[in-house]
Amino acid sequence: MKTFNHYSTFFLFAFFHLISFALFSQNKSEPICGTITTNENLELFKEIKPAIETYQSLFLSSKTTTSKSNTIAKNYIPIKVHVIRTSNGTGGISEHDIENTIQNLNIMFSAAYLEFFLCNGINFIDNDDFYKFKTSKEKSLVEANNVLNVINIYFADYIENSSDESICGYTYNKPNYDVIFMQNGCATNDSSLAHEIGHFFSLIHTHGADNKGVTKELVNGNNCSSTGDQICDTPADPKLTNQNINNFCRYIGTETDANGDLYTPDTSNIMSYSMKGCRSHFSEQQLARMYAYFITTKNYLTCGDSSDIDDIAEESNTSDALDFKIYPNPISGDIIYVKPSNKTETYIFEISNLMGQVFESGTISNQPIYVDHLASGTYLMTIKNNDSKIIKRIIK
Ligand SMILES: [Zn+2]
Repeated sequence: MKTFNHYSTFFLFAFFHLISFALFSQNKSEPICGTITTNENLELFKEIKPAIETYQSLFLSSKTTTSKSNTIAKNYIPIKVHVIRTSNGTGGISEHDIENTIQNLNIMFSAAYLEFFLCNGINFIDNDDFYKFKTSKEKSLVEANNVLNVINIYFADYIENSSDESICGYTYNKPNYDVIFMQNGCATNDSSLAHEIGHFFSLIHTHGADNKGVTKELVNGNNCSSTGDQICDTPADPKLTNQNINNFCRYIGTETDANGDLYTPDTSNIMSYSMKGCRSHFSEQQLARMYAYFITTKNYLTCGDSSDIDDIAEESNTSDALDFKIYPNPISGDIIYVKPSNKTETYIFEISNLMGQVFESGTISNQPIYVDHLASGTYLMTIKNNDSKIIKRIIK
């Protein structure tokens, strides 16, 4: 028994050391967030605050009531993915990683009623000039590649700012400039892209807009709506670093605010400078703020005009264009009907995700197609016969 205890203590010791080593080594090599909240941003937030607060209240009341009239519909947000590779087409983030990353985002943002989908595939940028990306080259990259009215996410092997620091990701709060830059190594860590999208939807770091000074937000919360991140359910944060968090994601700092109160920051908040492996959630009011900012400021985001949304592509070798009714779309239950205008022809269908992975296929008939096994999201339905093919977007 004594030996067993001895061994279990040893394994416990080794286990914790392994965890702390993993977190520690992750922290040591972590590049920084390059987003800066400017005075112009703060002025803009001040201007739109009344509208933001209206939608935040709607959002928060929808979470606390069971009344159907208060439910909020999910919003679909198009992403254009740009993958930077070398001039000969090597390197770049894999499609598998992109898919996982978007899936992870959709888990994180579902509580904000926001769902992301890939709009019109991936744009590969094969150019050695951008492969190790310098932020000073942003203008030429964006001018050649940006798509209007979607979130353009540029995935680069490496990103470096003008001070030669390695940047994990960065974005802006500029109307009609919808870009996010991500270093591939950070894109897959499950918190950095969510952090940048948080900035994109107006969130400020939990330690406030100023990355250098100490936060003026008080621990007692008295000035929480006007200082720090201007959000009141995130505790005052003196700015987390690898000096004031231990390897178990616990805050060990001794800083105090103007009243002499010790800070108790949330080390798992996505918008903090905590270790990336510690960050796992947005607060309820951060979710409300992102939703309200989307509705008031970014609701122009769309994947092409409305006709493009229905008919993504059509190829026809005959003079008769294909015409189909697909309903209900968005799918409200577990079935979907596809009715061709020409009922004498035989058509086959395929339901795939935006990366081309097929989940369902068969022949079009009068019977409904069961889609109960498909997770919520955006899919493509391809309908074809020997001569023609049409692709429509369906949403579940
Ligand atoms: Zn940041």
